[in-house]
Amino acid sequence: MALGLEYAGKRVLVVGGARAARRILARYLAVGATVHHVPEPSPVTGAVAPVAPIATAMPGVLSPVFPRSIGSWGALIAAVDLVVVVEASPQLDAVIAAACARHRTWLTRESAASTSPIGSVTLVGGGPGLEKLLTVGALAALNAADIVYYDRLGPTDRLDVWAPGAEHVDVGKAPGHHAIPQRATERMLVASALAGLTVVRLKGGDPFVFGRGGEEVLACRAAGVPVSVISGVTSAIAVPAAAGIPVTHRDISRLFTVISGHAPISDSELTHLIGLDGTIVVLMGIGTLQQLVAGLARLGMRTDMPVAIVERGFAHDQRTTVGRLDTIGALASTAGVRSPAVVVIGEVVALAGHGDDAAADIMREAATLAS
Ligand code: SAH
Repeated sequence: MALGLEYAGKRVLVVGGARAARRILARYLAVGATVHHVPEPSPVTGAVAPVAPIATAMPGVLSPVFPRSIGSWGALIAAVDLVVVVEASPQLDAVIAAACARHRTWLTRESAASTSPIGSVTLVGGGPGLEKLLTVGALAALNAADIVYYDRLGPTDRLDVWAPGAEHVDVGKAPGHHAIPQRATERMLVASALAGLTVVRLKGGDPFVFGRGGEEVLACRAAGVPVSVISGVTSAIAVPAAAGIPVTHRDISRLFTVISGHAPISDSELTHLIGLDGTIVVLMGIGTLQQLVAGLARLGMRTDMPVAIVERGFAHDQRTTVGRLDTIGALASTAGVRSPAVVVIGEVVALAGHGDDAAADIMREAATLAS
């Protein structure tokens, strides 16, 4: 499907079995086309049985007058604006192509959805929220999806464009605004795949960075559902970058550690982090921030160590609060910092200056420092 074209009110004829063509049918319906469907044409004659497959008929899709012979395809094709071939024998494809040329009807070919009785699950890392940071693989998986399970951290602004016609299910919130429990999400993924659907689980950042992706993979494997993972751009690196902070920098920091602040970080862990002498990146760290900075100071980190908190990376209201180990706690309270935010502790923070510089500015600054 070529996005950007205006399909509303256009007559579209989709050729191919109901299961194989389900995504295509749903997509053209979603963009307002009048969709006709010719299911399962006979591979030899191109004729189709004049029996509408009631069980698989999709609401809104119209069954056309079924062509009973090769000759009757012409009239059908003359009556529509676009023919989409999903499944057709080479002979039928040639007949359709000739009729389209004769009647100046547009013709496109799209690949069939899987018709195997068991579907699949793809865990897709959606990056930190910016469309540009969705990977080519993520977009391809979304485009092929029958159903997308998403939550608030993944990029969702244009899900209807990235996964047109797919069902979109928010598993971040239930009607009472409570997150759907992890096990329930896993059961939903598995059930959809067992029903034969191509399932995408869209996650914020990378699925394996505090994303519970590993648990979802295990649940699929346990149920015998084919599962794959498309890595995403993690907020641990991209959100600091959006505020102009490189997590490593020659001669300043040669390592970075990403840690979850969901639960308080123990003294022993903090001691090791200080000993590493690199950049510390904390996700889910706002609730435990005061304990973290107090602990680091008590266990010997320099109190003038630069610290940045980047809230809502890539959103229009992204905000960066910069301070030192001994001032950031008070600054964060005054500013009222909230989740989602990435905390960065280390010398690299100083490279950003005091604002949301673009990465290009940082690179220029870095080049000046190095020369
Ligand atoms: N898998 C995700 C992280 C999930 S944990 C990833 O790789 O990015 C959720 C935490 O990620 C949030 O609490 C916050 O610390 C961070 N986070 C994710 N997106 C963010 C964003 N756009 N801005 C700031 N922090 C973000």
